[in-house]
Formats: sequence, structure tokens, C-alpha cells
Amino acid sequence: MSHILIIGAGGVSQAATVKCAMNSQVFTKITLASRTKSKCDKIAKFIKDKVGVDIDTAAIDADDTAAVVELIKNIKADLLLNVALPYQDLTLMDACSQTKIPYIDTANYEHPDTAKFEYKLQWAKDGDFKSANTMALLGSGFDPGVTNVYCAYAKQYLFDEIEYIDILDCNAGDHGYAFATNFNPEINLREVSAKGRYYKDGKWIETEPMEIGFSWDYPKIGPKDSYLLYHEELESLVKNIPTLKQIRFFMTFGQSYLTHMKCLENVGMLRIDEVEHNGVKIVPIQFLKTLLPDPASLGARTKGKTNIGCVITGIKDNKPRKVYIYNVCDHQECYQETGVGAVSYTTGVPAMIGSMMVAKGIWSAKGVFNMEEFDAKPFMDELNKQGLPWEIIEMAPNETRLIKEI
Ligand code: NDP
Repeated sequence: MSHILIIGAGGVSQAATVKCAMNSQVFTKITLASRTKSKCDKIAKFIKDKVGVDIDTAAIDADDTAAVVELIKNIKADLLLNVALPYQDLTLMDACSQTKIPYIDTANYEHPDTAKFEYKLQWAKDGDFKSANTMALLGSGFDPGVTNVYCAYAKQYLFDEIEYIDILDCNAGDHGYAFATNFNPEINLREVSAKGRYYKDGKWIETEPMEIGFSWDYPKIGPKDSYLLYHEELESLVKNIPTLKQIRFFMTFGQSYLTHMKCLENVGMLRIDEVEHNGVKIVPIQFLKTLLPDPASLGARTKGKTNIGCVITGIKDNKPRKVYIYNVCDHQECYQETGVGAVSYTTGVPAMIGSMMVAKGIWSAKGVFNMEEFDAKPFMDELNKQGLPWEIIEMAPNETRLIKEI
């Protein structure tokens, strides 16, 4: 019996809210609040038509902690799911610790003026959540999120010791545009145009953007060019799996995407500082977001599949072991079910499952936590029930699906 307050009304929110409504025995009441209330109302109508469940909607400025505190108290919410933007993580965490309700998000805090993410400021709120006798669950999307749970499952159930992890994120969907980003363009382009980084033998190694890449043979998709990026789950997994010798993250990009991004970067369109244009101050990357297709609109036209997974190498019973755990999602099937494509779906469904783990008290603790700090099994079981089934390939220790370096 939980009343969930969901903040944000983009593509990820739509998937998460639809899935909460489909689990109305857990989420007995749903309030969807965002900056633009009409977007919440549109999602509410979709849910009424598709699932037959009524949800409440509200307008909220998530940057205003006092306003969020008031909303939580007025509607008597039991937990808060943040699927707005990473900029709102800290204010929403404060609103939750002040009202003593659990907080769940899908993305690491970023300051709007600095294209850099790290857990430091969110982990620093551990004491606030402990004092409030409640918890914050960080990064309950797919990556971070399910990828952390795959690693936790491997650590808890498949290996005695984990040594190497490669996280591989492939979106083989085709939306037919020359250039579009598959989630919030500002957040996406800040992440992708940044320097790469990975962890090896106790040190973080920095790379130029897209410096390391290979063609990887993704199960049920085939070979795709994949490039090393820094990604937020690396920070918490290094902390929580201390036996790790190396962990890296790779994402697929087509040549058209990379060429457009380089060109936009070269002409200054990815700048995150203010510039003056005809007497008006604008931030180029925010202006670019206005011009690009709304990621939520890509669902209807995107065809193809995603495959996100982890290749994990380590020791079991004194012998080397290597497994590949992954999920394959079809854009059109996601769209038929929730009205959004696979990128929003693969983030929104785990956001709902994380909220379910907390609402049902299956994951229960006091303080601030990452996904891999809890028993992975109940989450893995729900993934199979809620539309993100996973598979495991047992690989020979020296077997690889790497086709060629690029
Ligand atoms: P969108 O930009 O489509 O949606 C964001 C929503 O948040 C919009 O409805 C927006 O309002 C709302 N919002 C923004 N600022 C405020 C504010 N100050 N107060 C209230 N509402 C606000 O993003 P996505 O749905 O694509 O992504 C949502 C989140 O999911 C992001 O944090 C993203 O980083 C994360 N993500 C995580 C992934 C993972 O696997 N872990 C993968 C993909 C995304 P408005 O409509 O008015 O603009």
C-alpha cells in the first residue's frame, strides 16, 4: 500500500508511470508532478486509456525544495521517484530526508554549469537519510541500475571473486533522422562529448573522447562499433567490488551520430556556458535541445533492438569463469506497451522495480545506497516479470565477441 510521487514527465517518466500503474497492488496511489503539468496530464490520459488506472497530476518546480516538501506533505506521499533531470537530485533528496520518505533516482547529480558527474554530493547525504530513518536508492535505471544489479548478482551468486567487467550498451534502433539523441539531448551530449575514463589496477585512466573502440558482436543484433566512455556506475562498482582489477564501459555510436556531434562541437553548439545572441543570453547546448527531435517522440518511429549487458570475468571454485549477462529489448514492442521506445523503457521499468523493492521493504536500510548494495535476486526476478528478461551466456575464459579494434 504505497503512494508514489513521480517527478518529471519525459520519456523515462512515461515508461515508469505506466509500469507503476500496471503494478497497482504495490503502488496503490500515483501522483505525477513536473514543471509542465500538461505533460503529466497527457501521460495520465495514456494510462487511463491503456491500463484503466486513474493517477493524480500536479505542477512542481523540483529545484525548489520547500515546494516539494509541501507537495509531499499535502498529498501524503510514501516515496518519491525522481525521473526529472540530474540537476534536481540534491533538492529532491533534501525534500525526502526532510519529510522522512524514501528517494529513488536514475541518474547521478550534475551541476548545470559543469559537465561532470560524481556521487560525492549524493553520498554526503547519507547522514541526513540515516537521521531521517529512511533511505535513498541511487541510479535505478538500466545503466546505471540493471548493470549494477547484474554485477551484484554475479558477485553474490556466480563468482567467488570478480576481476574484470566490461559493460556494453548497444542501441541498434533506427529512428530515420540524420541526428537525434535517444534521451535528454543536453544530458546525452554532455556525457558523450566528455573525456573517457576507466579503472585499471587501482588507478583511473583518462582517454580522449572516443579514443578506444572496437566492433563487438552483440547477441541477437550482430557487430556494432562501440566506444569507451566514462559512466557513473563505474564509480560505485569500484567501491563496492573491491576485488576488481579492471572495469570499463562501452556504448555504440553510428558514424552519422559521431560526425554530427564532432561538427556541433567544432562550431560551439555543445557549449554549456552563456553566450550573447542579438542582446539575449543563450546557452548553445540548450538552444540545440530546442532544435533537435524530442526524444519522447522517437518511440513511434524507431525500429530495431537494444542490447545492454555485462561481460564479467573472475574465479569460481578456484577456476576461471566468464559470463555475459544481458537484456535485449525491441523498440516497437516497448512503444506498443508504454508509448515510448526502448531507451526510455529500459530506464523506466527498472525505476519502477527499484521503487517496488523499496515500497515492499524488500530493499530496506537507512542511508544512501547504490543498487549493488542489496540482494540482487528479487530485482532480477522482477526484471523477468516486468518486461526486461535477461539471459546468461557462459563463455570460455579466453573467448571474446570482439570482432576488431577501431
Ligand atoms: P526528459 O528531458 O525527456 O524529461 C525530463 C522531465 O523533467 C521533463 O518533463 C522536464 O519538464 C522535467 N523537469 C526538468 N526540470 C524540472 C524542474 N526543475 N522541475 C520539475 N520538472 C522538471 O528526460 P528523460 O525522460 O529522457 O530522462 C529522465 C532522466 O532519466 C534523466 O535524469 C536522465 O539522465 C535519466 N536517464 C537514465 C538512464 C539510465 O539508464 N540510468 C538512461 C536514460 C536517461 P519539462 O517537460 O517542463 O521540460
